[in-house]
Amino acid sequence: MLSVKNTICAPVHQPGSAITIIRVTGPDAILACEKIFRAKKRGKLSREKGFSLVFGEIFSGDVVYDEVLLSVFRSPHSYTGEDMVEIACHGSVYIQSAIIRLLINNGVSPARAGEFTQRAFLNGKMDLSQAEAVADLISSESESAHRIAMNQLKGGFSAEISRLRQELLNLVSLLELELDFGEEDVQFADRTQLLSIASTIKEYSDRLTESFSIGNAIKRGIPVAIAGRPNVGKSTILNGLLNEERAIVSEIPGTTRDTIEDTFTLDGVLFRFIDTAGIRATDDIIENLGIKKTFEKISTASIVILVTEASVSPADIRSEVAAFRKKLQNESTALLVVVNKTDLAAEDDLKGLKQSLEKLYDGLVIYMTAKHAAAYSELKSAISQYSGVAKLDGTAVIVTNSRHYEALKHVSESIGRVLEGLSGSLSSDLIAIDARHAIHFLGEITGEISTDEILGNIFKNFCIGK
Ligand code: GDP
Repeated sequence: MLSVKNTICAPVHQPGSAITIIRVTGPDAILACEKIFRAKKRGKLSREKGFSLVFGEIFSGDVVYDEVLLSVFRSPHSYTGEDMVEIACHGSVYIQSAIIRLLINNGVSPARAGEFTQRAFLNGKMDLSQAEAVADLISSESESAHRIAMNQLKGGFSAEISRLRQELLNLVSLLELELDFGEEDVQFADRTQLLSIASTIKEYSDRLTESFSIGNAIKRGIPVAIAGRPNVGKSTILNGLLNEERAIVSEIPGTTRDTIEDTFTLDGVLFRFIDTAGIRATDDIIENLGIKKTFEKISTASIVILVTEASVSPADIRSEVAAFRKKLQNESTALLVVVNKTDLAAEDDLKGLKQSLEKLYDGLVIYMTAKHAAAYSELKSAISQYSGVAKLDGTAVIVTNSRHYEALKHVSESIGRVLEGLSGSLSSDLIAIDARHAIHFLGEITGEISTDEILGNIFKNFCIGK
């Protein structure tokens, strides 16, 4: 275990709640707390075993600051792996800062951002990708983001990376065996066998790399844009999709509408609207620079809802969709066509429109009356389906972290070169260099290989108290 000399503390709660927790961790955690804490019915804090709960008061001289409950943890059985005390005190900012001041006066330092989790990593309580999952878990806003973070925290992702790393180590040892005994004409593994091992590894690392686009979208919210001519009902649809969510969220005391201004959750997946206030005409002033910029923005969406009206002719709808698709700069964007204001069309006309449009356009078209709150179920299930999340296996390992994504891209590139080398007649020692590169990058993900720079970058993104 790494020896960390100093003891640190920080609140692990925002002040303002009824109870807050101040965490103290390090070799002197228990001793420092003992100096400012008097148990009601028990003896010295330093005699307490790990996992004890002790009730008492925080004091200094004659002043009693608060009645508190202390949880005592003994190394290595704590979050950080060190001796640790968590002081549950009342949530007043005054009490919290008084306790922290008393601790500092007794030799404890204030914790830096992410320092608790960094110590957990340095003490071998978790690997780097698990430490990063802590941050993801805290910020997860939807069931699916939570599920992925939880899987990563429990080590599902690390297990896959370790497996990949092990397979690569085996590959390297086969290559090196070939080197050692190559001149003796002994064949340990023929190149076809090595090729098959390497391509399995490449396929897997490619799959993980590709999972980042959906993983990242799940974490941040899958980007959705609503486009169409003025007055077709875009704002109405936007509000219709957001409103239900707002109604639910605003029932939770203390939540504000602002925080969910442009996001909504469907089937446990978070969607985020891209602001496309600039999108107006899609035909006449299309060359206009502003429109071009808007299209660049729209093209970053995974799903675009193009709204038109039931009063438009099928041929016009088809050309509007075709013109729109041409301007979209991203082929993987899913386009969902909504024919709105069906309430204004006569039943027979609507039937005729549906039949003709079916012949003219082969994508999914949703007919709705956006004014009616009950009209959204079809649109919602289409959005859900187009997100691609439903297809994901609940236990699938998905990359959500850009640092892991970068490392995995390097892994895929290195293994790509291993494959080229194996198919050509590159010597084993040169191929082994590329395979070792791939092993290195996998080690960066879990932290088997880490530099102060990597660690600094990761933990600076945590806030104090994590
Ligand atoms: P935007 O300019 O595309 O954002 O369109 P709005 O959402 O502001 O809607 C324009 C007008 O169409 C408003 O007066 C809406 O109330 C109306 N509207 C929207 N959806 C419907 C609908 O399904 N049926 C009818 N009759 N009117 C609608």
